Amino acid sequence: MLTKLNEIKVRAEELLQEAVSIEKLNDLRVKTLGRKGEITLLLRSLKDLSPEEKAEMGMAANHFKMQLEEMINKKTEELKQQEMEKRLIAEKIDVSLPGLPFMRGSKHPLTRVYEEIRDIFVGMGFNVAEGPEIELDYYNFEALNVPKDHPARDMQDTFYINEDIVLRTHTSPVQVRTMEKMAPQLPVRIIVPGKVYRKDDDATHSPMFQQVEGLVLDSRITLADLKGTLMHFAREIFDADLKVRFRPSYFPFTEPSAEMDISCVICKGAGCRVCSHTGWLEILGAGMVNPRVLEYGGYDPEQVTGFAFGMGIERIAMLKYGINDLRLFFDNDRRFLKQF
Ligand SMILES: [Zn+2]
Repeated sequence: MLTKLNEIKVRAEELLQEAVSIEKLNDLRVKTLGRKGEITLLLRSLKDLSPEEKAEMGMAANHFKMQLEEMINKKTEELKQQEMEKRLIAEKIDVSLPGLPFMRGSKHPLTRVYEEIRDIFVGMGFNVAEGPEIELDYYNFEALNVPKDHPARDMQDTFYINEDIVLRTHTSPVQVRTMEKMAPQLPVRIIVPGKVYRKDDDATHSPMFQQVEGLVLDSRITLADLKGTLMHFAREIFDADLKVRFRPSYFPFTEPSAEMDISCVICKGAGCRVCSHTGWLEILGAGMVNPRVLEYGGYDPEQVTGFAFGMGIERIAMLKYGINDLRLFFDNDRRFLKQF
C-alpha cells in the first residue's frame, strides 16, 4: 500500500514539473485527486486494512493529497501570472505611432454616371420608374410590337427561362408597364434605369449591362421635342459645345427611329481610333413611339404622341472616362475603381 502511494507521489511530482499549461494541471488534478483519481481510489481501498494500518496509511495519503492540491494551486497561479504578462506584452500599444489611413469607399463609376444621367433628366421634369429583370415575353417583346415570328427578335440574343419568360433584353418593358398603370393620364415623363441581359461577351459587350430608357407622352409631342431633349442631355453630360446628329435607324417599337451621334469627345471631330476616324460617336437610339405600342399601353394613338430613347450606361461611362474595355467595370479591381 505504501509502495503504491509512493509510486503515485513520484508520478504526480513528475507531471507537476512537466506541466506547462493550466490544461495540463487540470488533467493532473483529475487524474490524481478527481472522483476517480488515483489517491481517491487508494483512500477508498483502505477499508480492507487493519485499524492501525488504516490510520497510518490514511494519514500519509491525506497528507500527500493536501500537499499536492496546494502545489497544483500554486503552479496554476504562476502559470496564470505568466500568461497575463505575455498578453500584456502582446497587446502593448505605442500611442505615439502615427495612425493607419482610413480606407474610404467610393461610388462605382457606373453609379456615378447613372446618377449624373438621372439628375439631368429629373431636372427636365422626368420621374424614375423601375421594373422586373425577369420579364414576361409579352412585355419584353410582344407589347413592344415584336411578335413571336418577328425578325427583330434576332437583333437581341435573348436568355430564355422558358417559352414565356425571359431575362429582359432592354428596359423597354417598363415603358409598357408604366403606360398600363398611367393610361389615360398625361403627360408621361419617365426614365427607366436597370440591368439588362444579352448573350454577348467581349471587350465592348457584356452579358449583363445597364441601360437608361426614356419615355415621353403627351398630346402634342413631336420629333423636335425628341431632338431638343436629347441634345440638351448630350451637352450636359459631355461637353456644352459638342455637335449632335441623328441618323435614320430601325426599332420595332418606334417609328420613325433614329440613332444619335455626338462629335467625338476625344478628337473633337478630327478623327481618332475611338471614333474609327469618323469624328462621330454613336451614343443612343431613339424614335417616336410606334402607334401599336401606344395601343398596347392603353393610349389612343389618335390623341397621344411621344418619343422614347435608350442608352447603355457603360457606353456613356467609357466615353466619359476614356475606358476601352467594358469588363473593367465588373472586375472589382480596386486599382481601377479608386481612380474615380
Ligand atoms: Zn475621335
